[in-house]
Amino acid sequence: MTDQPAPSTAPAAAAGAAPGVAAAGALASHDDAQVLLRLTDVHTYYGHIRALQGISLEVQRGEVVTLLGSNGAGKTTTLKTIHGLLHPRKGTIEFEGHDITRTPAHELVRHGIGQSPEGRRIFSRMTVLENLQMGAYSRPDKSGMKADFDRVFGLFPRLAERRSQQGGTLSGGEQQMLAIGRALMTRPTLLLLDEPSMGLAPILVEQIFAIISDINRQGTTILLVEQNALMALGVAERGYVLQTGRIVRSGAASDLLNDPEVQRAYLGG
Ligand code: ATP
Repeated sequence: MTDQPAPSTAPAAAAGAAPGVAAAGALASHDDAQVLLRLTDVHTYYGHIRALQGISLEVQRGEVVTLLGSNGAGKTTTLKTIHGLLHPRKGTIEFEGHDITRTPAHELVRHGIGQSPEGRRIFSRMTVLENLQMGAYSRPDKSGMKADFDRVFGLFPRLAERRSQQGGTLSGGEQQMLAIGRALMTRPTLLLLDEPSMGLAPILVEQIFAIISDINRQGTTILLVEQNALMALGVAERGYVLQTGRIVRSGAASDLLNDPEVQRAYLGG
């Protein structure tokens, strides 16, 4: 987490929610200058299937914000919609004050939105080094690449040791590190992470979350999709809970952790 001031939480508490937890889709009143990403009433469809039914959320500069929800709630769809892989049928997306609702994915990378997708999607026949170079491919300045390799290898010493190994022969945890490292090579202002802990042993989950905190401390804002709600709320400042395409809860991570409904549904309480 960063040293930035904690954002205010939404004023209205949800019925039966812990203090500070807001009802469906309510937005905290954030200082506009600090808002990096803003979704307003976003509706996304797959054909006639309405996957997002009016999502509104904000991410402030310097924050880690987590998006929680069960299988099929719409978490990945939200990230894909932000990243221009899907376009909303209704609603707007703003990044750094610019409307990016219809901006294609490859342009968003140049604007500073990086993503590490669900299921990792690394290039299995390429080496670790080549995978990272692919990440840097679309960046505007090539001059800072050495510093970025150093940053990635500093965060993930394991990748440095295995720089000549083919991506497909890395372990699951190492592949996850590579996917995050590749996203960092684009020097994102905002990093979208989709289920970074998926399929990892508990010890590796701890490591990945520690690295997520390090990345954020180095100045990268993060929107984190996770099923591991406990870990996600541990690193995040704030969170949103998605249910069948709608936000049903939002608030400070500490308040969500104490929310009986969140505990029951996502924390095994
Ligand atoms: P998970 O945690 O299981 O990955 P999720 O919260 O990320 O779930 P999404 O993948 O965003 O959920 O899916 C949201 C809804 O959209 C689901 O009902 C899903 O079946 C549907 N959906 C997702 N992708 C497609 C697609 N390509 N075509 C049709 N429907 C889809």
